[in-house]
Amino acid sequence: MKPLALFAAPLLLACSSLLSAAPAVDQLRLSVIPTASSSGAAEAMVVSGGRWGTQRHLLHAAVLIEHPQGRFLFDTGLGHETAEAFARNNWLNRTLLAYENLNPARDQLEAAGYQASDIDFILPSHLHWDHLGGLPDFPGLPVLILPGALEEAKTHGEPPAFLAEQLEGEREWRQIELDNASYNGFDRSLDLFADGTLVLVDLSGHTAGQVGMFVNLPSGKRLFLIGDTSWTERGVEQNKPRPVFVQWISHVDSDRERNSEQLKRIHELHQRDPDLLIVPAHDEVVAAGLAHFPHFEE
Ligand SMILES: [Zn+2]
Repeated sequence: MKPLALFAAPLLLACSSLLSAAPAVDQLRLSVIPTASSSGAAEAMVVSGGRWGTQRHLLHAAVLIEHPQGRFLFDTGLGHETAEAFARNNWLNRTLLAYENLNPARDQLEAAGYQASDIDFILPSHLHWDHLGGLPDFPGLPVLILPGALEEAKTHGEPPAFLAEQLEGEREWRQIELDNASYNGFDRSLDLFADGTLVLVDLSGHTAGQVGMFVNLPSGKRLFLIGDTSWTERGVEQNKPRPVFVQWISHVDSDRERNSEQLKRIHELHQRDPDLLIVPAHDEVVAAGLAHFPHFEE
């Protein structure tokens, strides 16, 4: 029996790791999953007043949120099928938006013992290609959106910002209704799990129905994920939008003026409350200061 027992123990371990699901959590935690980085651009290309001599490698990330009442991805970053959709871009945008170091969120989750079915839903900050790229890797999961987001993407969406292929297929798009409860300078909000830990607000401007999310961690650390209202912390600190020529080339913002109003609101919030960490979706420097999967901010 002994040889069998010796053999069986590692086998059991192997089986349990194959079957193991994501751990249960008793309080909120958050982890950044880097899925790719941009091939590089001068900082002056990503924020007005940025330096030409500073090279930026903007990040494409998914953010894993684990809460006792649900586990979800805020944005998906880039995924297995992004290249196919990306190839539909013209040469100029393929060059400007080139990316490298692709490592889809699904692969990283599975390497840590999670399964796609451990995720309950996807909450994209907005429906641009670089935030939805991993969506096809999670078939069947509902996607939470604010009113107007899907209509804009499907009706007016054009490459390079929106890639129609990513919006196709059978999927439940679940509309979020914000309450008339003001929060941190925003008129309406949604306390996602009704415990004050995760609060959603409308950041329309960059796109219709862009979602911002406040994250209040048990440690007292507080974050505000602002999607693409600004690509950089520098833009928030100095209240500087993206350069105008970037808008000309790639039509980055659906409503540039409204996005500037949102940026100003976040800039003022940052002045009033400097302990609130503002997290632009693509700022690789801010992201480097946060726990990366499989480690967590708690
Ligand atoms: Zn983006």
